[in-house]
Amino acid sequence: MTTQTEQPAALVPSYVQDAWWTPASGDGAALVLDANTGERLAAVSADGLDLGAMVHHARTVGQRELGALTLHERALRLKELAQYLNGRRDELYEISYKTGATKIDSMIDVDGGIGVLFTFSSKGRRELPNSNVIVDGAAEPLSRDGSFLGGHIYTRIPGVAAQINAFNFPVWGMLEKFAPAFVAGVPTIVKPATPTGYLTEAVVRLMVESGLLPAGSLQLISGSARTLLDVLDYRDLLSFTGSASTANSLKSHPNVIDGGVRFTAETDSLNAAILGPDAVEGTPEFDAFIKSVVTEMTVKAGQKCTAIRRTIVPAGLEQAVVDAIGARISQRVVVGDPRAEGVTMGALASLEQLRDVRGAVEAMLAAGGELAYGTLDAPVVRTAAGAEEVVDAGAFMSPLVLTWDDVENESVHSREAFGPVTSVIGYADLDDAVRLAAKGAGSLVATVCTNDPEAARALTVGIAGHHGRVHVLNRETARSSTGHGSPVPHLVHGGPGRAGGGEELGGIRSVKHHMQRTAVQGSPNMLTALTGVWHAGADRIVAGAEEFGAEASNTHPFRKSLAELRIGDAFASGLREVTLEDITAFAQETGDTFYAHTDAAAAEANPFFPGIVAHGYLLVSWAAGLFVEPAPGPVLANYGLENLRFITPVPAGDSIRVTLTAKQITPRVTDEYGEVRWDAVINNQDGEIVATYDVLTLVEKEDTTYADWAK
Ligand code: NDP
Repeated sequence: MTTQTEQPAALVPSYVQDAWWTPASGDGAALVLDANTGERLAAVSADGLDLGAMVHHARTVGQRELGALTLHERALRLKELAQYLNGRRDELYEISYKTGATKIDSMIDVDGGIGVLFTFSSKGRRELPNSNVIVDGAAEPLSRDGSFLGGHIYTRIPGVAAQINAFNFPVWGMLEKFAPAFVAGVPTIVKPATPTGYLTEAVVRLMVESGLLPAGSLQLISGSARTLLDVLDYRDLLSFTGSASTANSLKSHPNVIDGGVRFTAETDSLNAAILGPDAVEGTPEFDAFIKSVVTEMTVKAGQKCTAIRRTIVPAGLEQAVVDAIGARISQRVVVGDPRAEGVTMGALASLEQLRDVRGAVEAMLAAGGELAYGTLDAPVVRTAAGAEEVVDAGAFMSPLVLTWDDVENESVHSREAFGPVTSVIGYADLDDAVRLAAKGAGSLVATVCTNDPEAARALTVGIAGHHGRVHVLNRETARSSTGHGSPVPHLVHGGPGRAGGGEELGGIRSVKHHMQRTAVQGSPNMLTALTGVWHAGADRIVAGAEEFGAEASNTHPFRKSLAELRIGDAFASGLREVTLEDITAFAQETGDTFYAHTDAAAAEANPFFPGIVAHGYLLVSWAAGLFVEPAPGPVLANYGLENLRFITPVPAGDSIRVTLTAKQITPRVTDEYGEVRWDAVINNQDGEIVATYDVLTLVEKEDTTYADWAK
């Protein structure tokens, strides 16, 4: 909670240009209090902070230092950061209690944030190349002779990722945005919300202490940053989380409208949970639904952008749902200081927030809502000392359930009481449920709770266009679901319309969100040079069969370690003829006696085949035999094929050959080997393409297995 004071407590520092900074004076600083007790904690001010210098530092030093690392190296650094923070969670929980968060709330914030770092670390290393350029899709031939190609690449944006965050998740809120920016190689400036920013400061302090952050890669603004947009331009990105009104005012800043600052927002959201018509009392779905609604009302005292604000149930079931929610709250929810034994719901983040939520509820009641469960009076709460009393200085509130005679009432669908509050409304049929959910005008998430696949499909497809995420809950997922309210780093977090249109999370796509996609055109050699990925038509150094372009002096690429192997190193095999006996033997051996390989008349009647043809897998197996270099060497394993296509059928009497070309080399940062992707093409004796695919192998960085072979 914040109030103006003439003599502020200790100031929360900012981290600016790789050093800690506090304003020269605390005059006018906002005072931050313990949400549970009202005790003074700290003062917050960014008065005198040079935002322009921070942005310049990020664009120069931060960009340079992050750019010295590859995507994989940065992803690995995230894992090390996560491990460092993991060992210091208890310190963070202690601070988090002061924000009103219980242990479970704190785990969602702290452990959830650390989990995001781990996820982006592993996804970054598994799904991205170990370079600084990501190739997007296959190249397009743009000339008849193949000498001119076009394609797309992603490279990082050349500026800073600025974050303005909400008060409710001071740790996770930062890390969910920091992780993808860091992997992309874009420095971050984070500005947490004033009431809980002291917890963000504690995390940044640990991250700095870890020694793992490259210079300029993370800066922190503690205090107000009203002029941040003034110093950003098209090179930069601003991602905002908070109220729709602030988002709208930032979105209309000239540097967004005319200056091209990339702007995303995640704002208020009237999220829904829909109970399916089949999920009546006594079903596992009904119980799971009630549990989910109560969880969403009480975790973080309902101060979650994803919380269930509208509980949409079959008409006639409203009272049963209200009763069940009330019963569960009465049995399970203990409001109080999170440091007290047994407390399951803490205070709101500040007295201002409490005032706002009460005000919103009063407005909803005035608009026609009825209080069906709970009271607006200050609740009796459990204090840290174990007493049960009303604590006026704490921002405590009872969970509340509202009902509505008029389910169309705009207040239900547009007013967000950002606390432990939900409205229960009835729907007539599935179409009506979809229509009511859509009245939220764009939401982050909805739960669909049903055990009827048809209802699940109708509801999900019906509401998907209005939501960033749909969580389908039934008896099969009641225990295993990660929950309605928990965004996961693998999936999109954000939503259309009122939810702001943001997409902070979403796996690798959120890394790319910090990158520019650029079309590149040029020759196969140039595209290979730009991307580090071999493109068909580019130069090769071919070993193998001289009649197919090899030079006798070239070494088989399987004999080369990653230290020696180059993109474009290739092997061309000789021809091998396919006989009917080969096809029959393969059919018998494998049991694949599909008629195209065994029954001449039936095969001829097939529109694709001239008669009996070889199995595609026979050809791929033979190709392995044609390109193999069998002696022990740096190639450790073949771990799969990708993009396999059979193009021209091979009847008995035809011959095949294979060409294998090193297409992409990805050394692993943590291992003594890396991945090599080989472009494989099988041709017939006339040069027609029979099959194309990528062969995936693991290859040693240095050839230890057979070091003397090449000498
Ligand atoms: P605000 O929009 O007021 O603040 C969010 C962030 O924006 C804070 O860091 C705040 O900084 C900053 N900020 C506010 N105005 C400006 C500005 N003009 N220029 C730059 N930065 C600015 O939201 P609140 O935190 O006060 O919450 C209000 C409501 O927002 C809640 O009641 C709830 O409805 C909604 N909300 C939605 C969330 C979501 O995740 N979708 C999360 C939290 C809130 P400072 O604190 O220094 O003012």
